[in-house]
Amino acid sequence: MRAWVVERPGPIASGPLRLIERETPVPGPGEVLVQVEACGVCRTDLHLAEGDLEPRRPRTTPGHQVVGRIAGGGRRVGVAWLRSTCGRCRYCRRGMENLCPDSTYTGWDADGGYAEYVVAREDYVYPLPGDRPAEWLAPLLCAGIIGYRALARCDLPPDGRLGIYGFGASAHLTAQAAIARGAALHVVTRSEQARRLALELGAASANEHRPPEPLDAAILFAPVGTLVPPALEALDRGGTLAVAGIHLTDVPPLDYERHLFQERTLRSVTANTRADGRAYLELALAHPPRVSTVPYAFEEADRALADLAADRVNGAAVLTLT
Ligand SMILES: [Zn+2]
Ligand SMILES: [Zn+2]
Repeated sequence: MRAWVVERPGPIASGPLRLIERETPVPGPGEVLVQVEACGVCRTDLHLAEGDLEPRRPRTTPGHQVVGRIAGGGRRVGVAWLRSTCGRCRYCRRGMENLCPDSTYTGWDADGGYAEYVVAREDYVYPLPGDRPAEWLAPLLCAGIIGYRALARCDLPPDGRLGIYGFGASAHLTAQAAIARGAALHVVTRSEQARRLALELGAASANEHRPPEPLDAAILFAPVGTLVPPALEALDRGGTLAVAGIHLTDVPPLDYERHLFQERTLRSVTANTRADGRAYLELALAHPPRVSTVPYAFEEADRALADLAADRVNGAAVLTLT
């Protein structure tokens, strides 16, 4: 089969990905072989390609927003980021499997969906309906699920004022979930195109630098640590800032009075549980969000990541296999 691999992690301009031919993987006990229809492109794939996240094994195929069918004409499933957990540790037992120290991840610990086939654990795939376009479903599997968890983690009060910093794939889905809950949404992003999309989706404001009013909750999607202090400063008393990304550049020193006092809270978001995934997919299928999909042919995975790195993707990039 054809598969992309991270050959030598480095700046996307150096061409870290390579398209190769490799053996179609063989599923082990409890695993399924999935024929890929589409695979969403996530910023985490870019972090893996560029080496911001240390490779866990050589020549791994990235991609963890896979829509496909179980090989041999089986049911349609989604393969997402969380590949496995131990099921026994204190976190797993508490319903916090996203914090399992032995968790593994699709496209990092095992080959992912930038390929014609991918192997996944049967108890970690999500059932998907057969009648929705694969390129609409794919971004739900990470952008949607992680955004949903970030929205839960930022403790947005009913009818609260929510800020979103950075407006890519995950943010544009989270925005719709928040607005459906009655939030007044303020988007801050340097991309003019993204600001336009935010307003189209119902944001109350979209600005380049700061929100126009104090916020009850905020989510930082941009992987930019220097945004943490101003985002904390823009919170109202008692507000919470959740950092959604798996990787963040250094956070500058915080000033207790300006950034944290008055019970403002800074939190991270770490992956998701399967319960998050099921809850989000149920919501998204019952109240379908508008997914701004930017399709790329399978052979263009490197270009898709370069476009993502340069903020040229307005919405969610998706590789389609035909
Ligand atoms: Zn565990
Ligand atoms: Zn992702």
